[in-house]
This record gives sequence, structure tokens and C-alpha cells, in this order.
Amino acid sequence: MTDELLSRAEALDAADPLGHLRDQFLAPDGFDVVSYLDGNSLGRPLRATARLLDEFVREQWAGRLIRGWTDGWLDWPLRLGDRLGAVALGAAAGQVVVADSTTVLLYKLSRAAVDARPGRRKVVLDTDNFPTDRYVLEGIAAERGLTLVWVETDPLTGITPEQVAATVDDETALVLFSHVAYRSGWLADAAEINRIAHAAGALTLWDLSHSVGSVPVRLDDWGVDLAVGCTYKYLNGGPGAPAFGYLRRELQGELRQPIQGWMGHRAAFEMGPGHEPAEGVRALLSGTPPILAMVPLHANLDMLAEAGIEAVRAKSVLLTGYALELADRWLAPLGVEVVSPRDPEQRGGHVTLRRPGFADLLESLWENGVLPDYRRPDGIRIGPAPLSTSFAEVHRGLSVLRTVLEKHL
Ligand SMILES: *Cc1c(COP(=O)(O)O)cnc(C)c1O
Repeated sequence: MTDELLSRAEALDAADPLGHLRDQFLAPDGFDVVSYLDGNSLGRPLRATARLLDEFVREQWAGRLIRGWTDGWLDWPLRLGDRLGAVALGAAAGQVVVADSTTVLLYKLSRAAVDARPGRRKVVLDTDNFPTDRYVLEGIAAERGLTLVWVETDPLTGITPEQVAATVDDETALVLFSHVAYRSGWLADAAEINRIAHAAGALTLWDLSHSVGSVPVRLDDWGVDLAVGCTYKYLNGGPGAPAFGYLRRELQGELRQPIQGWMGHRAAFEMGPGHEPAEGVRALLSGTPPILAMVPLHANLDMLAEAGIEAVRAKSVLLTGYALELADRWLAPLGVEVVSPRDPEQRGGHVTLRRPGFADLLESLWENGVLPDYRRPDGIRIGPAPLSTSFAEVHRGLSVLRTVLEKHL
């Protein structure tokens, strides 16, 4: 009997306009990996990344030594920020920096925002946001004597404009949400939520960690004030790659971030007394930029520019749709529940499956070369990165998951 679902995967792969890009990844079918389904947690490396890192160490680090700083390294945070803005964020030049970690940039931008609205004592956020977002804001609230107003989101979906409208008021300084929810994959209506928050006079901060490089983002068009995100998920920047921060042009000069280090100084190398913030988005910087960790981004942004974010999104919708189909056919009869939106318009780049006892399967899955993402207590996230994942790979992964589940029943 032919496997109809496998034939579908083969047909989808054959028709995939981005399929040829898989060969540009290091060992997409190599090592012991049968199916990598966690591109939303740590993207795979490009072949070019290995080459660029080697070249950088030999030619730039060893060859240029300290001259590298004035040769161009110091421009990387803004230059890569501009490129990222153009390729993936819908942001005009001069509003994005690559720096720090998402957690640290969240702190810097949130603190800057609440300090810029001193008459307003509330920050609105949701209970299902990524832990670091919640923790950072709890710290800032304690530091500044602010009240956190928690929106209870449905764990199967996520934050809605109606919930935001019912919560923001003239005491709200800032709203913070994730564009794509890390658990359910819910894709928030950022443009509408932004409009509602602004109508109440609040500033908006979006965490784009799970949308950048997977879902089209239009920060300038949506009128977003502030945004942060990772570069090691769908942007394949590598473990611990720096984050990015967006600060809308009109707010630069008004918002002051709290970690006033020398790299955000107007004249870093004058080493003068007292801090004077740099002009523009450079003021978001604090210390020496993590140059080595930015090397991979050059190759990744080239690839994303070549592919185009709209094509990436189109493939992503097909990949998650196909994963849902396999889940319905193979896994639902084994007690697995889909806990992500079924409407592709409301879904980001990953889907989450739930079944009590999933934790016990993880070891078997890894032994069989299948690497999904596990979320306590009983969720498995399937995050097929569109640039590096084939439909056949999704088929292989979920087929192993089915076999392992059957054995454990
Ligand atoms: C992955 C992720 C982070 C990670 O922050 P780090 O500082 O890089 O550890 C933050 N927020 C969201 C929504 C994420 O998905």
C-alpha cells in the first residue's frame, strides 16, 4: 500500500520554491539527525557560517587585531540592525541595533519606556508570555513601584485586541506582548493591538523572538514603539547569538535606557567624564559588541533576503498545516491533542501537541534522531524552520513519534 501522506510530502517538496536552500545548511541530513523539529529554539547552521567564522578568526581577528574596531566592527551593531530591519522587520534604517541578549534588551527598553511616562503607573502584559518577559517586568515593577496588570490569555490561543481594549487605560505606561506566543504559536494582531494601546496613550513593546524570520513583521507600518527578539531561533545565529532591539525614530532622544555604558556614549573613545547618550539608536548600546557572535548573521540575512520573508511564511504555513494533518491522522487516535490555532491566519511557525506522559518519550525520540521541543508538563512543540526543513523530514519525525507512542501505550 502506498503511503498517501508520504506521497504528499514528496509532492510538496518537489513544488517547494525554497527547497534548494536546504543544501546550504550544514549536514541537513547528516550526523544522527533523522528529523529536526526545533528550528524555533535553535536554528541550524549554514555551511557559509562555518566558513565565515573560520575566515573571521584567521583574517580579521588574527590579521587586523585592534585595527578591526576602526575597520568596521564598531559599525556592526547598527549595520546588521539596518539589514535585519530591511529584510525581516519592516523597519527603515537607523532604528535597530544588534546587541546583548533578548532579556537584557527587554530590561533596557521596558525601563526606558516606563521612565518616559512618569504619570502612568501600570504595565499591561499577559500571563502566558515567555518567562523572561514576565520576570524582567516583575523586577522593573518592584524597582519603580509600578503595578503589573495581567491579562489572562487562553493557553490554546493568545492575546486579543478585545482583551487589550478592556485592560488599557489612562494609567497604562506600557504594554508588552509576544507577536507569536512561544507555547501555542498564536499570532497576535499586532497592528490592531498597537492602535488600541496608542489610543489609550500607552507605549508598545513587542517580543518578536518567535516571529522574526518566520512571519512577516511591519514595525514601521504598525506604528510599534519598541521591539526585541532573538537571532538564534529562525535567524540561525547560533547558540547565544545576540538579540536585536528596535526603537522607533520619533522616540529616540526621548527614551533613555538605564545601562549607560561607554558604547552608548556620544563619543565613546574620548573617555570623558559623565555620560552623554549617543545620537539615535546607538544610545541603546552599553558595552563592547559581541562581534564574534554576530559573524553568522551576515550569512543568514543574505539567505533570508534571497528567499524573501513572504515565501518563508508561505512555506511555514504549509509545513505546520502538514504537521497538523499528520497529528490528526496518526497521533489523535493515540490521545494526542493539538493545542495551537488551526486557522493559519492565527498561527505562527510552530504547533504544540499535548499528551500526558510526553516527558517519558523524549529519550526514545532523541535516540531515534528525532528532535522536537519539549515544554513542561506535557507539550511537544513542532517547529519546522522553513529554510532548512523539508516536508519529508516532518513526515519522518512524526512517524517516529507515532511509533514511540505506540510502544509506550
Ligand atoms: C527565546 C525567547 C527569549 C529568550 O531570551 P534570551 O535572553 O535570549 O534567553 C525571550 N523571549 C521570548 C518570547 C522567547 O521566545
